[in-house]
Amino acid sequence: MCAPLPHDPNRRPSSSGSVVLREPRADVLVGSRCAACDNVAFPQATGCQRCGARSMTTLPLSTSGRVWGHTVQRFAPKSPPYVVPESGFVPFAVGYVELPEGVKIEAVLDCATFEELAGAEVTLVATSPVPRFATATADAGAAPGATA
Ligand SMILES: [Zn+2]
Repeated sequence: MCAPLPHDPNRRPSSSGSVVLREPRADVLVGSRCAACDNVAFPQATGCQRCGARSMTTLPLSTSGRVWGHTVQRFAPKSPPYVVPESGFVPFAVGYVELPEGVKIEAVLDCATFEELAGAEVTLVATSPVPRFATATADAGAAPGATA
């Protein structure tokens, strides 16, 4: 089972200790494209990593792509910055999503099962604090303790 990530960037503890949802984020990831060789970079760069040109332009990136590779975080990461939820740590997936622009984005991956992730099509669901994508079958609203 692939539960939604405990430290969902769209959720944060309220002063009462319960969990509240922030406003849904509609923004996109922003990278840059080299005017000389078309290489795309994320995050934005001032110089091209391929040819060294300093002529990068801002490029809003596609909001869907394909899982290029992934792994499962089966133990709680170092804290801080990770915050272990009161309900306890739940394993989650991280990996790279390849976008149509040809750039690979390191991201948290929401899913119904870890087995479905290899090569899966995923859609951007959050940009902060880290990029986060979900499969079509991920149940993003099922986090224990979440309130609307
Ligand atoms: Zn270049």
